Amino acid sequence: MYDYLIVGAGFAGSVLAERLATQLNKKVLILDKRNHIGGNAFDHYNTDGILVHKYGPHIFHTNSREVFDYLSNFTAWRPYEHRVLASVDGQLVPMPINLDTINKLYGLSLTSFEVDDFFKSVAEEVSPVRTSEDVVVSKVGRELYEKFFRNYTRKQWGMDPSELDKSVTSRVPVRTNRDNRYFTDTYQAMPLHGYTAMFEKMLAHPNIHIMLNTDYHDVQDTIAFKEMIFTGPVDEYFDYTYGKLPYRSLEFKHETLPTEKHLEAAVVNFPNEHAYTRITEFKYLTGQQHTKTSIVYEYPQAEGDPYYPVPRPENAEIYNKYKKLADETPNVHFVGRLATYKYYNMDQVVAQALTLYKKILTRNQLFQGNGV
Ligand code: FAD
Ligand code: UDP
Repeated sequence: MYDYLIVGAGFAGSVLAERLATQLNKKVLILDKRNHIGGNAFDHYNTDGILVHKYGPHIFHTNSREVFDYLSNFTAWRPYEHRVLASVDGQLVPMPINLDTINKLYGLSLTSFEVDDFFKSVAEEVSPVRTSEDVVVSKVGRELYEKFFRNYTRKQWGMDPSELDKSVTSRVPVRTNRDNRYFTDTYQAMPLHGYTAMFEKMLAHPNIHIMLNTDYHDVQDTIAFKEMIFTGPVDEYFDYTYGKLPYRSLEFKHETLPTEKHLEAAVVNFPNEHAYTRITEFKYLTGQQHTKTSIVYEYPQAEGDPYYPVPRPENAEIYNKYKKLADETPNVHFVGRLATYKYYNMDQVVAQALTLYKKILTRNQLFQGNGV
């Protein structure tokens, strides 16, 4: 009899397995239908010996000291600040849009103050700001929106930014200074030996059993457990009772090239050309020295593995119905990007899992206090 059956060995499932096993001495079975742990953050050495991220580039960044300290129990870090270029009008320019982007794009030499005035002169008044189009045009106007955001978003999501919640393009700031980092979080680093090595350490405990290549549908009736933690798609758990929740998928095309360096930055975005959205060169992220280099192209797809919840009001409405069902389901906890239908980064999923752990801990303490 297991205390916990955990479905999914990504960040959500692995953090909970580790906490419950090591802090509460619970017996945990964690299973994943894939043939590896780590969920979408899984990395591995390819046949040329280059460390690559199977499901696209994963860059760790957080403002949460608690999350950073927690993960630091399982990995050392390599300081890393992520930088991205966008291919626009035949040039490679910094993304997020900053002072240098504008000067290079238009052949100008504006100061920070002048570029601020420039943004104000082209920005459109939008009230209220609701959609992913509103966010951008209200900051930098229509021309820059069309050069950098409109087509990228249409490719990535299969719909116009005007149909997506503002939270999507709000992830990318606009700057009037020369800061060309993609993120400005307090902690920005990559696990020194990769994500999978970090997950291996998290899950290396005698109370944790791992079962790979196993869909929980196939085994749920044969395993005895007291509680479940579910980190897969919430609509799938409830047999699509309220219909399918849309998830956006990607196809990853990995390539290794016989050259030391291929791109001018870790990632190059292609808003207006090609069927793919971006190319990533992994050696920038990992710092690995190698005579060859490995890259990945991301091709957005409607069908395939569910990678991105699609933030828009109609979907939030469907999700809220599933959430009500989830809240009413005894002894099953839903956590993670797919089970709570939230466009969360890794650190947000870790924080969400730690919060659930604290809830379980408090409940246990209350039970013990009551002599149960
Ligand atoms: P997942 O990692 O998806 O884990 C869920 C697991 O459940 C999966 O392994 C799945 O196989 C398993 N599962 C599902 N259903 C079943 C079932 N029926 N039976 C058994 N197992 C099942 N975040 C960042 O912070 N920085 C980044 O740079 C970044 N880049 C990203 C790039 C891409 C292309 C994508 C798609 C995501 C990126 N993210 C990034 C987000 C990050 O991947 C997620 O926040 C994180 O991996 C979510 O963890 P999770 O445990 O919730 O879900
Ligand atoms: N985006 C864009 N152009 C870019 C980069 C991002 O239009 O060059 C939009 C796009 O809608 C994307 C969203 O901003 O999905 C969030 O970008 P982010 O880089 O955070 O996406 P992720 O890494 O999560 O795929």
